[in-house]
Amino acid sequence: MNVEHWIGGERVPSAGRFEDRSPIDGSVLAHVARGGPEEAALAVRAATGAFPAWARTSREERARLLHAVADAIERRAGELAMLETTDNGALLRSHLRSVMPRVAHNFRFFADWLLELDHAAFDTRGHANHVSWDPAGVAVLITPWNAPLMLATWKIAPALAAGNTVVLKPAEWSPLTASLLGDITAEAGLPDGVFNVVQGHGTEVGPPLSGHPGVRRISFTGSVATARAIAAAAAPNLTPLSLELGGKSPLLVFADADLDLAADLAAEQYDNAGQVCLAAVRLLVEESVSAAFLERFLARAATLRQGDPRDAETDIGPQIHPRQFGKIDGFVRRAVAAGATPVLGGGPNPDLGGLYYQPTLLTGVKPGSEILTEEVFGPVLTLQTFAHEEEAVTMANSTDYGLAATVVTGSPSRARRVSGRLVAGTVWVNCFFVRDLRAPFGGARRSGVGREGGNWSFDFYCDVKNTVSAPWEK
Ligand code: NAD
Repeated sequence: MNVEHWIGGERVPSAGRFEDRSPIDGSVLAHVARGGPEEAALAVRAATGAFPAWARTSREERARLLHAVADAIERRAGELAMLETTDNGALLRSHLRSVMPRVAHNFRFFADWLLELDHAAFDTRGHANHVSWDPAGVAVLITPWNAPLMLATWKIAPALAAGNTVVLKPAEWSPLTASLLGDITAEAGLPDGVFNVVQGHGTEVGPPLSGHPGVRRISFTGSVATARAIAAAAAPNLTPLSLELGGKSPLLVFADADLDLAADLAAEQYDNAGQVCLAAVRLLVEESVSAAFLERFLARAATLRQGDPRDAETDIGPQIHPRQFGKIDGFVRRAVAAGATPVLGGGPNPDLGGLYYQPTLLTGVKPGSEILTEEVFGPVLTLQTFAHEEEAVTMANSTDYGLAATVVTGSPSRARRVSGRLVAGTVWVNCFFVRDLRAPFGGARRSGVGREGGNWSFDFYCDVKNTVSAPWEK
């Protein structure tokens, strides 16, 4: 199968192509158009041309078209789910049950939110203030491979709802669903050029997109290193950036916690083979209950089945790519060489081979070592103990990241106290991964800049304008 760019409502090929392989068995899925400066410029031109008419389209009509996109996603949810699973190795079961419905919901939510967006109005000494949200222009969206369509549509839906036109650059390890989204938007009736997809390697097509002077917004989800490159490319134009980056989130288990719940929440961190930015990979457990917690956790983890992500019984699939697999193994090997003990897993799955890495838990990790401070982005958790609340908070806040944190406790007052002191964009108390699009989502410290969700998304994608009118003569 050949996959092309989607520019101006048409499939556009490139002279070069790259191979897209399935993490399930390494088979070649597609030969994908390999974009560069020329395709970046073409896509920005198409989006720029489509912008004035789309920006002038009434809110009601934009909302109707976004609902039509959601309808088309729902119609093709099975196809999208299988494509995504084959391409990035995440569970088909999750794609069918929760991910694709949420992808459609992303469009419905921002379509409805748009209709409710208030134009604030107030009076200053007889002068009328009128605050409006004007679309900014062309938005470049650059997204990762761990939840390709989910993360892309969090950005696409509010950007389009706000009246911007979009150029999406999906990750080169998972280009397929973005390509199908091109067809879906056309099927739903979106005008040509409103939504565009440029495929290619980040280092080749990323800089000409990020550095393009005609681009008014850049929203990026991915690693800190890439965020720095994008920020540098965007700096000459001062293009506003939204950055959703990595994490090294903690899960704090206090002695008063429901330990079964704590064990369940900890085992949930192996979801998507640990390739989740929010994953609470540092288990911090109060000393007095650490043995009891560990026993429950290991019993829970023993029930997880690793295997083909298309199989409904599978809980943990493969890692996305040999490079990511090698990176994870390197982290674990170095931690073990430095004295850590793998009490669970600790290497590739010998029964499955390929890109299947065993769910791993390390104890005895050295304070300050890389396994505690750097993002592994795989099924690797560490367990440390703390003596009291103060120490727990200090340990939780001891990395450069601040994406999320989970607190497991039976005490509401402790939950309030501790969550108030955690450096994190999201804190979950006795739960994990509950996400509402009305809520702000983003990270503190190096986990990101800005917030997505509700009005935070519209604030980013719009030029917010205040018009002040003197009283009219009677
Ligand atoms: P990555 O930074 O390597 O790549 C992300 C995207 O950036 C890809 O599309 C890639 O092609 C592109 N890119 C690479 N170099 C570029 C450049 N110089 N200019 C422009 N674009 C470029 O990240 P990844 O490996 O795909 O994803 C994993 C990372 O994403 C992890 O750090 C993870 O925590 C993070 N992530 C964060 C969130 C969040 O919401 N905070 C969600 C998911 C993933």
